[in-house]
Amino acid sequence: MHTNKHVNNEFSGIRSAWVEIDHGQLIKNFTLINADTPSHLKKLCVVKDQAYGHGAVVVAQAAVDAGYDYLAVETIDEAIELREADIALPILIFGEVSDEEFSACVAYKITCCVNDISKAKRFNEYVQQGSAEHTSQAFHPVHIEIDSGMSRWGVRWDEAFSVIEYIANECEHLYLEGLMSHFAMSDEADKTYANLQHSRFVSVLEALEQSDITIPLVHMSNTGGLLDLPHAHFNMIRSGILHLGVYPSLVCKRIDGLAPVMSVKASIPALRQLHEGDCVGYGMHFTASTPMQIAILPIGYGDGYPRVRNEGYVLIHGQQCPVVGGNAMDAMMVDVSHIPDVAIGDEVVLMGGQGDEWIDPRDLVKWKKTVCYEILTGWRARLPRRYVG
Ligand SMILES: *Cc1c(COP(=O)(O)O)cnc(C)c1O
Repeated sequence: MHTNKHVNNEFSGIRSAWVEIDHGQLIKNFTLINADTPSHLKKLCVVKDQAYGHGAVVVAQAAVDAGYDYLAVETIDEAIELREADIALPILIFGEVSDEEFSACVAYKITCCVNDISKAKRFNEYVQQGSAEHTSQAFHPVHIEIDSGMSRWGVRWDEAFSVIEYIANECEHLYLEGLMSHFAMSDEADKTYANLQHSRFVSVLEALEQSDITIPLVHMSNTGGLLDLPHAHFNMIRSGILHLGVYPSLVCKRIDGLAPVMSVKASIPALRQLHEGDCVGYGMHFTASTPMQIAILPIGYGDGYPRVRNEGYVLIHGQQCPVVGGNAMDAMMVDVSHIPDVAIGDEVVLMGGQGDEWIDPRDLVKWKKTVCYEILTGWRARLPRRYVG
């Protein structure tokens, strides 16, 4: 059993609430996705935010083993962590790097997006100076992000060509390796806006065809696009959530056998007998109307559990145990009156399966009123990660 990097003493991971990562299922998911994906397609694995809380290095290594071509993260520190773990695959940083980050990009060979002419000019000069000093690197790979309708990162599709031409023709120390765009809504049944974004991106590629500029990597599809928009695969896809066994929406295509990799578990440290009229938790949101038994769980909203009141449930002995009262930062209470043989030390599942019951990330989505991305990334670092399988 390993634990994550946030805890690294001899007592690592002994806390009685934890995130469990099923490494065998992760590998199985990669295999299933590979079998479902056209083999000529290049694949980039997005491992930002600790691979949505699963551990960036572990997921990146599984992607390497599954034959992926590229990795992507959001910050320089995330990229450096992968390099220091001896991950050699090309790494792309999404978003914008600042001028202060040029040096780290070059030192750790991290591809970045350059989306405007003035930054391209400054980065080109930076790489030129470095190559004059060390003669180690003559040029640095960059991608350009085309904003095709999300108004987030990148250059507008109808203003992009001058940036492409400038980097391709005027920046001899930058290697224009990739052109990318990103969908605002690829996973819902209505693909109207996704198709509009696709056609805007294609208009840039058509302009490119009229020029003598070639860009080897063209990519637009996240998991939603990979599953539902094969005409938007171009020659590389970027998936972040799919290999974790979680779908971005209820309606996108399914891959048989894919299953969530992450569970959240605890063991029961204390049981309490309530008398009629006893109140439970902050704010007195629950009062026992009859004698009952509750379990106190050593996990709360400070670990990323939704801050619910009398809503949601956990699994104990394969049975649903409803949350009673309002959850605290570090503790929550559940009704175990219907489980007479419940005992201290019994396993509790807060997300994942036990017996025939299953708590899906999507159930927590309802209770936390968010999206499954935030459920996965929301489990805090103070929950040790235990890798099994
Ligand atoms: C996070 C992200 C992805 C991955 O999205 P999934 O829906 O998790 O596959 C792909 N591309 C970009 C630009 C991203 O920011």
